[in-house]
Amino acid sequence: MLDWEHIFATRSSRMRASEIRELLKLLEQPDIISFAGGIPDPALFPDEAFKAAYNDIFSGSQVGSALQYSVSEGYKPLRDWIVGEVARIGIECTAENVFITSGSQQALDYLGKLFLSPSDTALVTWPTYLGALSAFNAYEPSYDQFSLNGNRTPASYRETAAKNGGSVKFAYLSADFSNPTGETIDLEARERLLALADEMDIAILEDAAYQHLRFDGEAVPPIMALDISRSGGIENTRTIYSGSFSKTLAPGLRVGFVIAAMPVIRKLVLLKQAADLHSSTINQMAIEHVASRGFDDQVAKIRKVYSGRRDAMLAALQKYMPKTATWTRPEGGMFIWVTLPEGMDGAELLAKSLATEKVAFVPGKAFFADGSNHNTLRISFSCTNDQMIDEGIKRLGRLVAGASVG
Ligand code: PMP
Repeated sequence: MLDWEHIFATRSSRMRASEIRELLKLLEQPDIISFAGGIPDPALFPDEAFKAAYNDIFSGSQVGSALQYSVSEGYKPLRDWIVGEVARIGIECTAENVFITSGSQQALDYLGKLFLSPSDTALVTWPTYLGALSAFNAYEPSYDQFSLNGNRTPASYRETAAKNGGSVKFAYLSADFSNPTGETIDLEARERLLALADEMDIAILEDAAYQHLRFDGEAVPPIMALDISRSGGIENTRTIYSGSFSKTLAPGLRVGFVIAAMPVIRKLVLLKQAADLHSSTINQMAIEHVASRGFDDQVAKIRKVYSGRRDAMLAALQKYMPKTATWTRPEGGMFIWVTLPEGMDGAELLAKSLATEKVAFVPGKAFFADGSNHNTLRISFSCTNDQMIDEGIKRLGRLVAGASVG
């Protein structure tokens, strides 16, 4: 076999399958209760509505354009629908400011490509969405831990960035029900972030993948909405908002979007022309068809189911977890984040669990840019019913209680 390493670009050395991904392959065993995936429950997909959408498209005059190449910015009726939808949460913009991507994952790749030269710094929360780290890694950045409680000064971020040989370009965060912790950033922290970004003159990447999945508590305005209202309009904002239909309608169609000021949108269009020309025309049409006829009902349906599962998981954690463990109490989303006693290792626990208790989760260190915090776990409640949740958490509690520290 060829030795490819010296032929590959240097940036490819940071593209590696993690040991955790290898472990998670074992999930295909049939008797495992899995809290590992962060995916929607397929039983909740609006499949009948999609069937009607594709039927209408194929039986109408649109079929030719549905199967044809289309503009890189995205399907205009879908962009118009998004403008109306985000206006409800304080994001006032025009269809020109909306750019359709192939899932919001593609937005992360494009934004990494647009902002990061090798050695530039991306500020990320500790922990952060693993897929964002994978997307940015290809552009060879450094990472610095973004502090949400405001105890770091712009100078300290700049100093670290300079030591790493570049400058700070953006702060990336998932403001509502984050992957992996399920936590939401409060209003004060959002305002502090905007002030810090002004002082440092950097972009803010607001990942809103889970924003619609609020079960209870009061909604906090998106960072983008706060930015628009203080700066007098979208063209003056430094926030770049990415949204997705994956968690509300269905991920398989791969439709997401970015909302930003025009200079950013114009660059994203050029990136898309070079990468994949446009997102699937027919899938954008189907998403528009389904969203414009029943988005609110679909969101209400999934919120009810996931909220019940969140409650079941919190109750089971309370019942079965040893007192030495702590966990988050999310108001929405798909995840709970568990912190085990110091010295315990989530990856070792997973290996043991798959062999004995047959329950799966994601060890937390995968979500830290520096691979730290080994004593944490991400568990998802989205794809398991109440009975499986109770049984799985019982097994997990037994495993943690029996595990040694060190
Ligand atoms: N951002 C976050 C925080 C996510 O959890 C995910 C999916 N797991 C994505 C973005 C990407 O989702 P998609 O590409 O399906 O929109």
